[in-house]
Amino acid sequence: MIPLIEINEVPKGLLEIESARDLHTILPHPTLLTLEGHRPQPLFVTVLLHGNEDTGLFAVQKILQKYRGLRLPRSLIVFFGNIDAAREELRRLDGQPDYNRVWPGGEAQESDEADLIRRVMERVTAQPLFASIDIHNNTGKNPHYGCINRLDADFLYLASLFARTIVYFETPKGVQSLALAPYCPAVTIECGKPHLPYGIEEAARFVDTLLHLAKFPHHLQHKDTDVYHTALRITIPEAFSFSFNDKEADLHLLSELEESNFSELPAGTRFATVKPDSNARFAAYDDDGDDRFDDYFFIENNEIRLKKPMMPSMITLDERVIRQDCFCYLMERIEIPK
Ligand SMILES: [Zn+2]
Repeated sequence: MIPLIEINEVPKGLLEIESARDLHTILPHPTLLTLEGHRPQPLFVTVLLHGNEDTGLFAVQKILQKYRGLRLPRSLIVFFGNIDAAREELRRLDGQPDYNRVWPGGEAQESDEADLIRRVMERVTAQPLFASIDIHNNTGKNPHYGCINRLDADFLYLASLFARTIVYFETPKGVQSLALAPYCPAVTIECGKPHLPYGIEEAARFVDTLLHLAKFPHHLQHKDTDVYHTALRITIPEAFSFSFNDKEADLHLLSELEESNFSELPAGTRFATVKPDSNARFAAYDDDGDDRFDDYFFIENNEIRLKKPMMPSMITLDERVIRQDCFCYLMERIEIPK
């Protein structure tokens, strides 16, 4: 069983550490930090569900520094997640399930990690929550954006306080924001690449805004937002090798695609070159888990091309991330009635 530390004051040293690698010297295990504020309904914030994504840790550090010796405007509960992986600067350790896939309804529900998350959920949802924010980074070149799992006014409003770009998704299951959605408006924020000051500033500003927000408007306020729906998750089946450099790999991926995150690509856009006779292809899963490769791509002259206009997100050049998670998502724009 993974221990869960529960504390009610900021531990000594937490505000001074400069690297997520050192967090284990302050918090040796996953930790729930609960701080009382003027408004009792807590804001729930999770950081380091992915150990190499440190922006959340530093945003929380900034908030706690700002209110050092003061009472917070609103109660705050922070969950510090995969501290072991943070020590190694990895998304997760080999052999661990992904800390952002084991929330209720997700995968590996028999694992120690899922058991840990069940205990976290039990503690956190014991009182009514004001809102929930899960802070992430990604590896590719992406704008800042918020992800929600419901198109309700409060969820859209919450996400719009972070960024103009909003992504609505139903899969993967077992992510924090999906698990919290029945309890309060919940959002996953993607703050660009780890450790960059701008991402940390923006995440801290967002948390502070929520600490000060008295209530949600409960109706859609007019905000200039772009909302996209994640239609497909593109992975590379284990059976095929892939590379951005090695033209002998089964799939030779095009590195310039990284520049296309959040821009609409026309039909015919080339994604990869296929080694002749390898029969290599992507898997393109929709929300029902069906492989829709043939509906969205075609192969011509050993090249995989888009069949219809789509917008990619989270395209990464990190081959380890591609194997552990996915190559990218493909999205389409949705119109929100105002
Ligand atoms: Zn992440």
